[in-house]
Amino acid sequence: NLPLSVPITLPNGITYDQPTGLFINNEFVPSKQGKTFAVLNPSTEEEITHIYESREDDVDIAVEAALKAFNSDWNTQDPSFRGRVLYKLADLVEENLELLAGIESLDNGKALASARGDVGLVANYLRSCAGWADKIKGSVVETGDTHYTYIRREPLGVCGQIIPWNFPLLMWSWKIGPALATGNTVVLKTAESTPLSALFASKLCVEAGIPAGVINIVSGFGKITGEAIASHQKIKKVAFTGSTATGRHIMKTAADSNLKKVTLELGGKSPNIVFADANIKQTVQNIIQGIYYNSGEVCSAGSRLYVQDTIYDELLAAFKEAAENLKVGNPFEEGVFQGAQTSQMQLDKILGYVDIGKSEGATLVTGGERLGNKGYFVRPTIFADVKEDMRIVKEEIFGPIITVSKFSTVDEVVKKANDSQYGLAAGIHSSDVNKVHDVARRLQAGTVWVNTYNDFHPLVPFGGFGESGIGREMGAEALDNYTQYKAIRIKI
Ligand code: NAD
Repeated sequence: NLPLSVPITLPNGITYDQPTGLFINNEFVPSKQGKTFAVLNPSTEEEITHIYESREDDVDIAVEAALKAFNSDWNTQDPSFRGRVLYKLADLVEENLELLAGIESLDNGKALASARGDVGLVANYLRSCAGWADKIKGSVVETGDTHYTYIRREPLGVCGQIIPWNFPLLMWSWKIGPALATGNTVVLKTAESTPLSALFASKLCVEAGIPAGVINIVSGFGKITGEAIASHQKIKKVAFTGSTATGRHIMKTAADSNLKKVTLELGGKSPNIVFADANIKQTVQNIIQGIYYNSGEVCSAGSRLYVQDTIYDELLAAFKEAAENLKVGNPFEEGVFQGAQTSQMQLDKILGYVDIGKSEGATLVTGGERLGNKGYFVRPTIFADVKEDMRIVKEEIFGPIITVSKFSTVDEVVKKANDSQYGLAAGIHSSDVNKVHDVARRLQAGTVWVNTYNDFHPLVPFGGFGESGIGREMGAEALDNYTQYKAIRIKI
């Protein structure tokens, strides 16, 4: 008997009504079995609210709603309609920026400034998708015979989408934006630790005029709700963002059920390379943005720093000072750069890696400890004198921990940078344009940032090489992952 909406007052004084139900057919509904789960505030470890937990039967109902919407005129009417509702949704997101950012900081623990940035990116991305909606083009193939052959690009149908807790609202937009622009309908599962912002945004979807059943949100746990999506016979595609281990499992489940299409945006252990000719001051800011932004809970985090030997001491000293000056703590306090880690599990994992780093013989330059004893705060951490085969250099930590090592030549650093199972992103800092192009070409990564880091744009595709994933999000490439080609060959 949990109410379908509860009043919540954010630490910044804003009060709002938080939906707690599943969002199906443009309505908030209790789960069939009436189960609920608690949502915690990672900054205080206190309970924020309970929300309804969906199970297999709820996923079935959501899929039926999505299927019905798909078979309506959603993808056969003038496609500019889809553009219009996405533009409207982007406007509504922007109008509610402070509230949405507050919900995100409360639920995820991220600094309010970061959360505001996320919501801005959400609005931009939805707008970009809105613009694509009426520009999905097929083609005519000149086959040189008497046939007339043309290729249509058609939506896939009901898409299952499973998102993580590090960027709850941004990942919601990266998933729903291209799916809706291309005429699909979706059943989306939020992460169990951060379900609030997508539920609130569902209200905005109704206000924007998105028809019933086009977007359905099923809050719940990976092993039940996530599995139900990945294995569902009527879902034609699953798009997942999260860990490589879970991505691998989802791909197997998808293959064993109905061979649904799969796109995966997975983990990383991205190298960030600093050459001696880099601008040190700017580079230090980029390194900070690369590793401590969003408390280090970023798949593309620049977590392996390689510094050319001639500037190593100077750069490390400047970086250490900057890291120690970062304000860590209450995400709602102005000036805080790094808030709380999202869960006890993440806190334990991060502190576990600090112990591993020490026992492997790396030098702890700064940080390496929890801040306070309430809330999941960790000091920005630097390990130096690392060896390439250490676990702290090889494994994704997903927290504010960076490893630093020296190199002398381009060949040496390219080899070290590429020695990873992952290939999501990489950074280069240099003022030598020839060297930049050469190294960028040789790095095995889906994105290479030069003299910047964690720098995203709606028109630029993002995704991984190697075990960092399959497919791309954003850019025109994202639309490819939500359409299928149909060849029509007519004998004249
Ligand atoms: P996860 O990959 O298990 O969870 C991500 C999402 O997948 C969540 O919504 C979760 O409920 C769902 N999920 C989990 N098991 C599932 C299953 N069997 N079937 C379908 N869906 C399932 O990640 P986690 O356990 O929350 O975090 C573990 C580690 O993963 C982190 O410490 C971090 O290293 C990594 N991670 C990476 C990213 C990224 O963006 N690359 C995001 C989150 C976590």
